Amino acid sequence: MTSELDARARDYLLRADGQEDVCLATYAPSSGDQRTTAVLTDLALPLEGERSVHGNASFSGSYVVRAASQAAAEGLGVALLHSHPQGAGWQAMSATDRDTERSYAHMAETVTGHPFVGMTLAGDMTWSARMWHCNSGHQDAESVRIVGTTLRVNWNGRLRPAPVTTSAQIRTISAWGEHVQADLARLRVLVVGVGTVGIDLAIRLVQAGVQDVSVMDFDTVEEVNLDRLLGATRIDAALFRSKSHIALRAMQAAATATRPVLTGYDLSICEPQGQRIALDYDVIFSCVDRPWARAVLNQLAYSDLIPVIDGGLAVDPFPIRGMRNATWRAHVITPGRPCLQCNGQIDGAHVARDRAGLLDDETYIKSAGLKAPARENVSLLAPSVTASMLGQFVSLVVAPGGLGTPDPLRFSLSTHTLEHMRVETLAGCAYEQAAGGGDRRANLTKEHPIADNARRQREAHARTMRVLVGRLAQNVADKASALIGNVLVGS
Ligand SMILES: [Zn+2]
Ligand SMILES: [Zn+2]
Repeated sequence: MTSELDARARDYLLRADGQEDVCLATYAPSSGDQRTTAVLTDLALPLEGERSVHGNASFSGSYVVRAASQAAAEGLGVALLHSHPQGAGWQAMSATDRDTERSYAHMAETVTGHPFVGMTLAGDMTWSARMWHCNSGHQDAESVRIVGTTLRVNWNGRLRPAPVTTSAQIRTISAWGEHVQADLARLRVLVVGVGTVGIDLAIRLVQAGVQDVSVMDFDTVEEVNLDRLLGATRIDAALFRSKSHIALRAMQAAATATRPVLTGYDLSICEPQGQRIALDYDVIFSCVDRPWARAVLNQLAYSDLIPVIDGGLAVDPFPIRGMRNATWRAHVITPGRPCLQCNGQIDGAHVARDRAGLLDDETYIKSAGLKAPARENVSLLAPSVTASMLGQFVSLVVAPGGLGTPDPLRFSLSTHTLEHMRVETLAGCAYEQAAGGGDRRANLTKEHPIADNARRQREAHARTMRVLVGRLAQNVADKASALIGNVLVGS
C-alpha cells in the first residue's frame, strides 16, 4: 500500500480509546512470476450500523456484501483490516480472527473473483497479512510493503527470517545497526540493465549483504564494453558471454550473505516475461537508457508500487575536441515523487517510436530529424552515477534523519554543483493516476526483436567449436576457483 493509505488506515484502526476496530479495503492483484501481491487501492469504510465497537469489533454481513459488490464492479478484490492495539510485530490470528475471516472468504471470492485478504495492524504500526483461498484455507504473506518517499517493509519472520549476519559485514552493520541491516538484507532487489552502472550497483548491493539480487539484460559483452564493464574480460567478449552472465559471476564472487540468491535473466524488461519477473521484486534499479524500457519501469513504480531508482549520465562533448560538460541524475520513481515523464526523462512520442522499433532504424532517424541514441560513456564518471543511485536507495530504505528520498537530483560536472530539481507532477499524468492498478495496468510490453536476435546470435556462436571449447574451459576454471575458495574459507 502507499504511505498515504497506510496513514489513513492507521488513523481509522488505531483508536484513541484503545479498542479494536475493523474496516474493509479494496485491492488490485499484481501477479509476478512467483509472487502475487495485493495492492491496496482504497479503504471501504463502514456506514452507520455496519460495524460496532465493544472491546472487540464486529460487523454485519451486509457490509462485506456491499464492499465486495463495489470492488467487483471495478475488477478489484476485497480485504478485511482489523487492529490489535496491544500487539507488536507480525501478528498471529486468534481463533476468532480465523473463524471470522474464513466465514467471509468464500462469499468475497465468489462476488469479486479474487481471493479474500485478511490484514492485522498491531499497535506498533506493523502490518501482517494473509490470503484466503476458498477451498484450501489461508496462506500467510511474506511481507507487507508500505511505499512512498520511504519504503517500509513488515516481514513475516517465519517465512522470511532475518539473515544471519557475517563477520564480513561488521563495518556495514555498525553504520546503522542489526535491525536496519536485517530489513535491508531481506529486500528482493532487481537491477535492470547491467552495463557500466548496473554491474557496479549489483556488486555493491551483494557486498552490503543484500541476499536476493537479480540482474536482467539481454545484451552480449563486446570489445567496446571493456573500457568500463567491471569484471568483463577480453575472453568474455571472445566467448560471446551475456552481460547478465558477467554480472552474476562478479556478484557471486562479491556476495557476503551466507545464502545469497542471485539470478541472471537474459531478458528485456519490455518483454512480457521480463515484466512478470520484475513484479517479484521489492525495489528495482533502472540502469537502462532506452525510453521504452524506462517507460515500462515508470509504469510499474506506480501501478504495482515497486519503487524504481533511476539514473543516468549525459556527456556533452564539443564537436571537435574536449568536453563541454557532463551531468548525471538520480531519482526515485515512487508515489509522492514525480514520474519519469513529469521530470522530463522520458517523452511519450519517443517511447512509442522505440516500442515500434524505429529508434534502431537509421533511415527513419535521419528522415525524422531525430538524434540517434547517445553512445558516449565514461568509465571514470560511472561510479558517480552509481553513488548517486545508491544514495537514493539508502534514503529510501534507511531514511537517515527520518527523511526519505529527496527531490530528483542533478549533478553538473563543469561547476561541480548538485541541484535539487523542483519538479511537480503534471496535471493528468496517466502513469501516476494509474497508481495501484496492479494487473489492470495498460500493457506496454510485447515481443522484443532486438532481444530475441541477441539471444539467437549468442546461441549460434555457442554452437561453434571455438566458443564451445572456450566456454567449457572457462567454466572449469571458474569452478576450480570456487572450489579453492571453499577449501580455504569454507562455504
Ligand atoms: Zn484479531
Ligand atoms: Zn508523472
